[in-house]
Amino acid sequence: MKKATREQTKEHNKKLILNTVYVQGEMSRADIARLTKLTRATVSSIVSELIDDGLIDEIGQGKSLGGKRPIILKVLGNSRQLIGIDLADNEFRGGIVDLNGVIVNRVKIPVNDKSGKAALNLVYNLIDSLVATSTSPLLGIGIGTPGLIDAHEGKVRSAINLDWQDLPLRKILKDRYNLNVYMANDCQVAALGEYTFNYRGTIPNLIVVKVGRGIGAGIVINGKLYQGDDFGAGEIGHIGIKENGLQCVCGNRGCLETIVSNKAVLNYAVELAQNNPESSLHQFSNSKNRIDYNSVVKSFNAGDDEIQAFIHDIGRCIGITLANMVGILNIHNISIAGMICNFGNDLLTSIQQEINKRSMPILNRNTRVVFSNMGEDIIIRGAAALLMINEL
Ligand SMILES: [Zn+2]
Repeated sequence: MKKATREQTKEHNKKLILNTVYVQGEMSRADIARLTKLTRATVSSIVSELIDDGLIDEIGQGKSLGGKRPIILKVLGNSRQLIGIDLADNEFRGGIVDLNGVIVNRVKIPVNDKSGKAALNLVYNLIDSLVATSTSPLLGIGIGTPGLIDAHEGKVRSAINLDWQDLPLRKILKDRYNLNVYMANDCQVAALGEYTFNYRGTIPNLIVVKVGRGIGAGIVINGKLYQGDDFGAGEIGHIGIKENGLQCVCGNRGCLETIVSNKAVLNYAVELAQNNPESSLHQFSNSKNRIDYNSVVKSFNAGDDEIQAFIHDIGRCIGITLANMVGILNIHNISIAGMICNFGNDLLTSIQQEINKRSMPILNRNTRVVFSNMGEDIIIRGAAALLMINEL
């Protein structure tokens, strides 16, 4: 291996320090030296440069640990901006995000089931409009996209709904925008977002289950996204749950996705509306387009027996899958994200009960399943976090 030049070492240390302050939130120069194992002199000199670059700032004095009160440093949120992109659903979303993870501008584009080159053109439109509204230098583009993603190569190996196979998305976007691009699977990106903005520094491990057009999990272990040998870690959507269940796009039957995805919920609701005059959804039976996810949530909240049983079953199926994950990974904290959160605590109870039924009490008594509070921004902010972790 070639020895790093002095310039490379300095650049590396600069990134390390900036990233440490970003990940920890607020800290003193002494804290940085302790965590990075760099000398105090190196830390002081690089911190001065970062302050000159406008990337971090001194925000006041911390508590004294015996001696002089230390000066606290923080990454300056507005000094740079980045672009976070969410290609997970039938609406592409993007945001301009500051260094604190705050979205300062959003753009949404309906996909209308476009795929292939047409879908790629929508990604250009989305990024074009975001670039045009940025007000600080852009650090790069972070992307959460469905499918199997080779994050090292920057390729979408396979995204069935978008009909992308071996698409070198990173190279395409890098060439077009001359910005650094980082990408990962949408659910993995969601996990990174939830971890970075809700849990960083407080817990080491986290599972996030994201339900949308499909369902997948993102797994954070020791503060880092775990992507697996083929970048497919957390691909729980195609775990078989029901023997002789519904046909799935993957070729098998009864996959978790065929039971809990947004589309599965809507398909069930449409069928119920048409076949059961007693159902609160029957009012929609003449115009099936009018049933949307919120109508199903309303019926659930109004106590519709069949919808309640259906959602309870969804919770059970997610619980079965999570019980396996708890057995394999022994991770305490699990967040659920997506519109499914609108079904509220009854759904959480169904999930938790099933986990308890199917895993060792000594493992599951510390398992805590909650809904993510990040709403529809979870992937945009996660994609920004992916970029920040790599670029800062
Ligand atoms: Zn499947």
